[in-house]
Amino acid sequence: EHRLAENGGADLATPPPPSLASGWDNSIEYYIKKQLRIWCRIQNGFWELGKIQSSVKGKASVVLLDGNVMKVSTSDLFPANSEILDGVNNLVELGYLNEPSVLYNIQYRYQRDVIYTMVGPVLLAINPFKDVRISGSDVIMAYKENILDSPHVYKIAEIAYNDMMRDGVNQSIIISGESGAGKSVTAKLAMEYLIETGNSEMAVKLSQTGCILEAFGNAKTSRNKNSSRFGKLIDIHYNSEGIICGAYIHTLLLEKSRISQLCRSERSYHIFYQMCAGAPSDMRDNLNLRMASEYKFLNQSGCLKIHDVDDAKNFNELMEAMDALEISLEDQECIFKLLAAILWLGNISFEVIDLENHVHVVTDEASRTAARLMGCNVKDLVVTLSTNKNHQQAIDTRDALMKFVYTSVFNWLVKTINKSLKGDNNVRSISILDIYGFESFQKNSFDQLLINYANERLQQHFVRHLFKIEQEEYESEGIEWKKVEFVDNQGCLDLFEKKTGGLLSILDEASNTLKATDLTFGNKVKQQHLDSSLWFNDEKGCFKVDHYAGEVNYESMGLLEKNRDTLHHDIIQFLTSSSFCNNFLKSDFDKQTVGTKFKDQLFKLIQRLQNTNPHFIRCIRPNSKQLHATFDKQIILHQLRCSGILDIIKMSKSRYPTRMTHQEFTNRFGCLLSKKSVCQDVLTTSIAILKQHRVVPEAYQLGYTKIYFKTEQILVLEKLRKQVM
Ligand code: ADP
Repeated sequence: EHRLAENGGADLATPPPPSLASGWDNSIEYYIKKQLRIWCRIQNGFWELGKIQSSVKGKASVVLLDGNVMKVSTSDLFPANSEILDGVNNLVELGYLNEPSVLYNIQYRYQRDVIYTMVGPVLLAINPFKDVRISGSDVIMAYKENILDSPHVYKIAEIAYNDMMRDGVNQSIIISGESGAGKSVTAKLAMEYLIETGNSEMAVKLSQTGCILEAFGNAKTSRNKNSSRFGKLIDIHYNSEGIICGAYIHTLLLEKSRISQLCRSERSYHIFYQMCAGAPSDMRDNLNLRMASEYKFLNQSGCLKIHDVDDAKNFNELMEAMDALEISLEDQECIFKLLAAILWLGNISFEVIDLENHVHVVTDEASRTAARLMGCNVKDLVVTLSTNKNHQQAIDTRDALMKFVYTSVFNWLVKTINKSLKGDNNVRSISILDIYGFESFQKNSFDQLLINYANERLQQHFVRHLFKIEQEEYESEGIEWKKVEFVDNQGCLDLFEKKTGGLLSILDEASNTLKATDLTFGNKVKQQHLDSSLWFNDEKGCFKVDHYAGEVNYESMGLLEKNRDTLHHDIIQFLTSSSFCNNFLKSDFDKQTVGTKFKDQLFKLIQRLQNTNPHFIRCIRPNSKQLHATFDKQIILHQLRCSGILDIIKMSKSRYPTRMTHQEFTNRFGCLLSKKSVCQDVLTTSIAILKQHRVVPEAYQLGYTKIYFKTEQILVLEKLRKQVM
C-alpha cells in the first residue's frame, strides 16, 4: 500500500496556506524577532520593503532597505513573502497575496525582461515596449518540445491545442486589456505558434492575413502607433489530425470616424500612407496618386509618418499578401482605385453660391479624379454632393460617401479573405479574440461608447467563467467552499442593454424619431436614470458611465447621427447607378442602427465563445507613455484591480482545478483498489480509493456527482496508476 502523503510531497500533507489578503499569519513580535521582511506604506500606492525594529501601541519603527528609519502606524504594514518566493511563475504560489507583494513579484520579473506571469489559470502579459527576444521559431520549438515551460503566450497556445486534441472540444484564446496594453501583438504571437505547429499550405496563407487586416484596420492613435480599430475573432479550423485546414475571420465594427476626421498627431488607416509611399509608378499614374502630404484628409492631423515604420516596404508586403490570398489583379486594382478616390474626395472643395449658404462643387482635379476613379460621371458626383445643400451639409455628405466606400472595401476584403481561407474537413477550432481595449479620453463619443460596452461584455465573460460558473458549481455540488466576492458588472451591462430604458434602446428610439436631438436624448437618459450612477450635465449633454475599468464621461453631441448612420438617398441613388463600383459597394443599405447591429454582432461573438473552452490572457500597460523599463505602479495596480486579477489570485488559491465525475474517477483509478474493497455505487468506490491511499482530506472534496482535487494531487494518483497498469 502506498502512502500518498509521502509520495506526493508536502502538498498533500500540509493544509493549504491561510488565504490572507493583507493579514498576518503571525504576530508582529514574531516578525521583529525573526527579522522577516515587511512592506511599509510610504504613501498611497507606494510601499517599500523593510524590517520592523520595534512596535508599541499600534505604532512601529521600521528600517527600510536604504537604511532610513520610519515611524508608521502598524496598519500601514503588510507582511512580505520571503526571498525564496521572489519572482515565482504563478502568483498563486505566493504565501501573502497583498497588493505590494503581487506588484513586487510582477516587477521583479519585469525588470528581468520576464513579461509573462500566471495568475491561477490566467496569463498576465506586461507590455515591454521593447524587443525582449522571446519569440520566433526557436522559442516556439522549445515550447513544443517542452524544453521551455515558463509562462508565455506560446505556452497558452500549446495548452489550447493539446486540450483540443485530447478532449475534442473547441478552444478559445481571449485577449483583453486597455488600448496599448499589447493585445494585438499577443494575438499575433498566439497565431504564430498555432500556424507554425499546425503546418500546412493553409497555415501559410493564414499567416498572410495579418498584414492585410493591419493595413486596412489599424492606425496610429495617441496611445498606440499600431492600434486595431476593429474587433476580430479568428477561428482557426483543424482537421482530425490536428492540421490547420481553414480559417474564418469575424470582425466587429470598424471605426469609421477615422475616414474624414483625424485628431492631432493621429493617422488614418495605414493603407493610405502605404499606398502613397509605396505604389509603383504605373499605379501612381493610373490613380493620379500623390504623396500623402498632398491630401487634405491625411494632412489635417499634422502626422504623416510613424517613427521606425517604413510605409513603402509595408506596401510591398501587402501586395505579396494579397497575391498569396489569391485576390485577383482586377480586384486589387478596384480596391486601390476606390482608396485613391477617397483621398481625392477629401480634396474636393465647395463654393458658396447664394445667400443661403448653398454650395456647389468646384470642378477641378480633385472632383474629376474622384469621379473617374469611382467610374462615374463628374456631373453625377457634383449633383449628389451639393444639390440643395449648404456648406456643412455638403461636407457631411462627402464624408459619408468616403466612409461608406472605405467600410465597403474593408468588408469586401474580409469576405474575400474568408473565401480564400475556406477549407474542408474541419472538425475542431481554436479561436483567438482580439478586440479594441477599454478607452477613456478627454472627449468620449459614440465609438468609445460601443468599444467600452464591448469590453463590459467581455469582462463579464471573463468574470463569469472564472468566478460565477466555478462558484455555482461548487455550490450545486454541495462542497465546502469559502465564497470569494467578485465584482459582477451585470448592472453596467443592464444599463446598456435593457429593453426599456437601456442606453442603446433610448438611443435607438431617439434615432428613429425625427424630432429628437442629442439634447432630448440626453434628457431622456436623465429621466430614466435619475436614481442611477448616470450623471448629467444639461448644457453639454454629458453623461457618465461607471465602467468596470473606471468612470467615463460621454458627450451626447453627435450620438444620434452616428447611431443612425443613414446614407442620404442621394448617395444611395448615386452608388446604385455607378456601374463600376457595384461589385464592391453593393450593400443592402440596411436600416438597422449602428448600435443595434453592434450589439447583435457582439452577442453572436460571445455566444461562439461560450461554446468553447476559454484560455484568458490579460495584457497590462506598464505606463501611459509607451516607454520601456518604466513600471508605473499606480497604473498597473488600477488595471489589476479593475480587471479582477487580484480576486482571481485569491480564488485560484482555494480552487480545485482537477475535477471528474465519480464514474470517471472510479473507471480511471479503480485499478488502485484491492479487489475486496470494490463496491456497487461509484461514490462509495471513490471514497474507498481515497481511503486506501490515505489521500489527506485537504487535498480533495467530494461533491454530489463529482470529485475535486487540488493542483498536483491527481498527478500522484496518475503515477500510481502507471505503476499498476
Ligand atoms: P493593443 O492591441 O492592446 O492596443 P498593441 O498590441 O498594438 O496594443 O501594442 C502596442 C505597442 O506596444 C506595439 O506597437 C509594440 O510597440 C508594443 N508591444 C506590445 N507587445 C509587445 C511585446 N510582446 N514585445 C514588444 N513590444 C510590444
